[in-house]
Amino acid sequence: MACGTSQPSHAVPPVMASSTATGSPAVAIAARPSVASGPSAAPRATATILLRNARLIDGTGKEPRTDIDVLIRGERIVAVGRDLADAGVTRIIDLGGRTLLPGFIDAHVHLTFSPPANHDAGIADQVRNSDADLALRGAANARRTLEAGFTTVRNVGGSFADRSLRDAIARGDVTGPRMLVANHAIGITGGHCDDGNGLDPEVFSARRGPESGTADGAEEVRKAVRHQIKHGADVIKLCATGGVLSQGDGVGNAQMTADELRVAVEEATKADRKVAAHAHGNAGIRAAVKAGVHSIEHGSVLDNETLALMKRAGTYLVPTLMAARAVEAKAAAGTLSAESAAKARAIAPRMRSSFALALRSGVKIALGSDAGVFDHGTNGDEFVEMVQGGMAALAAITAGTSSAADLLGVSDIGRVAQGMLADLVVVDGDPLRDITTMRSPQLVMKAGVLYVSPAWAD
Ligand SMILES: [Zn+2]
Repeated sequence: MACGTSQPSHAVPPVMASSTATGSPAVAIAARPSVASGPSAAPRATATILLRNARLIDGTGKEPRTDIDVLIRGERIVAVGRDLADAGVTRIIDLGGRTLLPGFIDAHVHLTFSPPANHDAGIADQVRNSDADLALRGAANARRTLEAGFTTVRNVGGSFADRSLRDAIARGDVTGPRMLVANHAIGITGGHCDDGNGLDPEVFSARRGPESGTADGAEEVRKAVRHQIKHGADVIKLCATGGVLSQGDGVGNAQMTADELRVAVEEATKADRKVAAHAHGNAGIRAAVKAGVHSIEHGSVLDNETLALMKRAGTYLVPTLMAARAVEAKAAAGTLSAESAAKARAIAPRMRSSFALALRSGVKIALGSDAGVFDHGTNGDEFVEMVQGGMAALAAITAGTSSAADLLGVSDIGRVAQGMLADLVVVDGDPLRDITTMRSPQLVMKAGVLYVSPAWAD
């Protein structure tokens, strides 16, 4: 796909770098050159807002605190405490004891991908859609995602449409969450991330190559990683094993070689990027962890030995339980190919049992839903899935806030504390008693700007 551009680089989200618990280099987002083209239309927070009387769940895993005030000046939180003075405040919103949380973070989405009605419709989309179509479709998905309380997402694989959407949101041309993007996911010929599998080679061969993420051997993988970074990738996404929705590959089969994985991590690390690896089967998961990836996406077939390896390396698990639910439902509805339906039925129960094993192991977990496999804006269901899967509600909230921020390597999101960006969500009721409240936030603020505001806040 043509991706030549005369622009030296792209606008990047206004987030800061951080160090991480994994000991890997921080993602130096703010340090990268940025050229937001043209005058910025971004809604910039200029007001000083005082949120009164919150029941605060701050994202760190601490128990809730009641009767808390939060003072926001511009895009940042400047104070958190009891009975804050209201001098110089331009707006006061009384939360009436409702629960205030950090903006939610989804570490696994595909915003420029909308779930097709069925397998053939998906192929038709693939043939017809240009990157412009994908980006514009992504704009609608981005709005739904933000309105669902997700103020930051990590977009792990798609196309160069993803960085265009990220930059449009950063400029304020499009309403959506702050995005970290991978551009094209990188995998082997015929593997999970080769979306030409089984299609007419005459039509699809022109798109295949390291530039669009299909790479064989260490040097092609090196080029693939470099090319994604050249065109604005914040993170690198690898396809270490087969997958459910891809055709002609066994879902549990390892795909990238140890050498290919190692080179991908080496190139990404040199450029201060982290690496996310799609991996279902145990052998592929182990190979990716040994190569030094920062997160295992899906992690469907885990055992105690692999979990111990992940724990030692500090590798995050991003369980994507909603993806399991979604592909099972599609298999039942008959909208997947016969091959994908069989894979879905086999792997979904394994994803849930591996999640239970992971919880017992104490491995690090970040929330990621895989939205795009199902409708965007329903990401809050992942909190519900995690709790139904045995995770404590407070731990699930931490996974979708400060832990996800740590995985993303962004230090000023995911917590409600002085100096953090004012990414905030209010839910009615107590999510620790009823996690389903996380599905429908009443108030959503990103960087001090209200995007969802209920009548009671007026
Ligand atoms: Zn995915």
